[in-house]
Amino acid sequence: MRSNQLGNIIGLIVAAVILGVFVWRLPINGWGSLLWFGAMVGMGIIRVPHERQSKTVETASSKQDNIENVLLFGVSLGSAILPALQLLTGWLSFANYSVPSFWPFLGLLFALPGLWLFRRSHVDLGENWSVTLEIRSEHGLVTNGVYNKIRHPMYSAIFLLYAGQAIFIHNWIAGLSGLFAFGLMYIVRTPIEEAMMKEQFGQAYDDYCIRTGRLVPKMGS
Ligand code: SAH
Repeated sequence: MRSNQLGNIIGLIVAAVILGVFVWRLPINGWGSLLWFGAMVGMGIIRVPHERQSKTVETASSKQDNIENVLLFGVSLGSAILPALQLLTGWLSFANYSVPSFWPFLGLLFALPGLWLFRRSHVDLGENWSVTLEIRSEHGLVTNGVYNKIRHPMYSAIFLLYAGQAIFIHNWIAGLSGLFAFGLMYIVRTPIEEAMMKEQFGQAYDDYCIRTGRLVPKMGS
């Protein structure tokens, strides 16, 4: 059996067990738990094929260091481990707050556009995409599609999805931890990423920065 297939099977079994526990605990956690699960699965389905493809693309240089690794771990902790822990065990319930029953569904107003933008940015970046900061051997500057007006649409998408998490999970820790961890990563990583892109693409990147916004489209350009 190929390791991809084994990975798929293990992933499906883990997802099925988590889903089973979430359904069982639905009266405790409310619908937000299933909405959060759906958003996570959606992100996974969008990302996995790109992650596999990216392993086959040659890298020219990388800015991955220990700080980046710690920040990436922080994002996994805040966006997956802590929410899953709370929804599966209730160990963080001391930090719960109460919301009306319709409340978790408002999270879809963030998560659904987030999923759309997450997919579009992966498609538009194509083989230039990587989990960490890397320049590929045949890296091209992408300025079309969702990159036309925003420099970091994938980060905008992730902020939207973790805002969804904050609404799906009515817990001060497990709800907000995704936004907090990704916010930290964004603050540290973006200047390094932009400096790396400027070093690689020079004036073309400067011009691109002038006419684009970081997370939201620049008005009037
Ligand atoms: N910050 C971007 C991309 C995140 S993926 C976003 O939020 O959409 C990170 C990788 O994308 C980096 O290693 C960088 O090499 C690459 N990248 C970022 N912007 C790019 C662009 N406009 N064109 C090509 N590659 C880009």
